[in-house]
Amino acid sequence: MGNPKAFLEIHRQEAGYRPIHDRILDFGEVEQTLNTRERKLQASRCMDCGVPFCHWACPLGNKAPEWNDALYKGEWELAYHLLSNTNPFPEFTGRICPALCEKACVLNRFNHEPTTNREDEAAITEMAFQEGYIQPRTDIVRNGKKVAIIGAGPAGLAAANDLNLLGYHVTVFDKNEAAGGLLRYGIPNFKLNKALINRRLKLLEEEGILFKYNQQISLTSDINHLATEYDAIVIATGTPTARDLNIPGRELKGVHLALELLSQQNRILAGMEFSKAERISAKGKDVLVIGGGDTGSDCIGTAHRQGCKSVTQIEIMPKPVEGPDDPQNPWPNWPRTLKTTSSHEEGCTRRWNINTLEFIGKNGHLTGVRIQEIDWQQNPEGGRPIMVEKGKPEIIKAELVLLAMGFLKPEHPQYPENVLICGDAANGASLVVRALASGRQIAAKTNQYLMKK
Ligand SMILES: Cc1cc2nc3c(=O)[nH]c(=O)nc-3n(C[C@H](O)[C@H](O)[C@H](O)COP(=O)(O)OP(=O)(O)OC[C@H]3O[C@@H](n4cnc5c(N)ncnc54)[C@H](O)[C@@H]3O)c2cc1C
Ligand code: SF4
Repeated sequence: MGNPKAFLEIHRQEAGYRPIHDRILDFGEVEQTLNTRERKLQASRCMDCGVPFCHWACPLGNKAPEWNDALYKGEWELAYHLLSNTNPFPEFTGRICPALCEKACVLNRFNHEPTTNREDEAAITEMAFQEGYIQPRTDIVRNGKKVAIIGAGPAGLAAANDLNLLGYHVTVFDKNEAAGGLLRYGIPNFKLNKALINRRLKLLEEEGILFKYNQQISLTSDINHLATEYDAIVIATGTPTARDLNIPGRELKGVHLALELLSQQNRILAGMEFSKAERISAKGKDVLVIGGGDTGSDCIGTAHRQGCKSVTQIEIMPKPVEGPDDPQNPWPNWPRTLKTTSSHEEGCTRRWNINTLEFIGKNGHLTGVRIQEIDWQQNPEGGRPIMVEKGKPEIIKAELVLLAMGFLKPEHPQYPENVLICGDAANGASLVVRALASGRQIAAKTNQYLMKK
């Protein structure tokens, strides 16, 4: 710990976002950065606690006190070395991790001013790239064994990276035209610039990982064949099926799954062209987002940048508690409190306890959505609360609806013993940091299995 009193003398300072009037005009990253002096001051606030709850809270077990100390002292290379020991791609988590560690930080308990680990992580990694501390490894000794990874999202990339460094010949297959999974085709560019994925992929390729794109692998028929061709297979295919809303009017033009909009927008920014008929656009429209989570929030930010007229977001569950603390899930756990994202700040009507009854249209095109306010009452027999209607149904005017209600957890058949599963494909929809941790764990298991053989 560089400065034992820093947490008493220096306040938490976030870099903050670009001004709204400026940022909604483009898809550039909204988050700003602190200068080097301010960044070091932020790092100095870490108290190097005897019991570091941040280690416990971070699924990767990132050792924030160690790299914050190195950062404070200006030892950037050491800071990156410590950080990359546990985190293979800190440039991603440094931008889009919800920072479970910061909520568990003792300073969050003390005065709700935790350390700025996530931003520190991004700053350390950018400095490491800038100064050339990150170079492809040329000392990898090959062991002659081959591993196939199905899915090039964060889980597959983390597994591929570890296995490659252990000496396996790694081939990554993906059905898309480029790697990254939801990092590239889900998370909007205003949260994560895709050039960062390309920069990391270049390194992985230079270190010997082979990527094969536009390869849809059947998880039933192809796997058994691949399992004979490769010594082991890692399935990292995420959660491909989004939850749909099959109510009357679902067939109307203008009702889309969130990822249809988000992936198309990211592809357009990557230079892909879509015909007028294929194009999903919020321009000049009243937009309704169904689902109150992060995917919904990404739809809001995208709709603003496309020039929508208005955005409303509805959620069937009650409004979460406001304020920093969640009495039901107290520190050091993650507080399930109301979250207001940069996209919400850009303008959005948010409503909770709303059930969706019907999509309404004219000449095959969506014009509105019939909704019903509800209440959740305790079930006298125990179990799930009961939904009761409140007042009369109403209609929200909308020409574009985006369904952002989560993803179904995939089911897998019994695979041969050399087939392992990781990331969202194994655990259901979650977070990038959890996908990375899971990819690393499965890489270790794959190695153990192949070492025994
Ligand atoms: C819109 C959106 C925003 C999000 N924002 C955040 C955020 O800000 N922070 C955060 O931490 N998390 C966020 N998440 C969650 C996070 O993106 C996921 O938890 C994470 O990407 C899961 O990683 P994964 O590698 O398991 O799966 P994925 O990222 O889904 O990758 C799976 C890969 O497998 C490929 N694939 C699938 N089936 C096949 C097949 N049969 N053959 C070949 N390839 C196949 C896919 O093309 C894809 O590339 C967000 C999710 C969404 C949808
Ligand atoms: S990956 Fe996320 S939880 Fe882990 S140290 Fe970084 S910001 Fe914190």
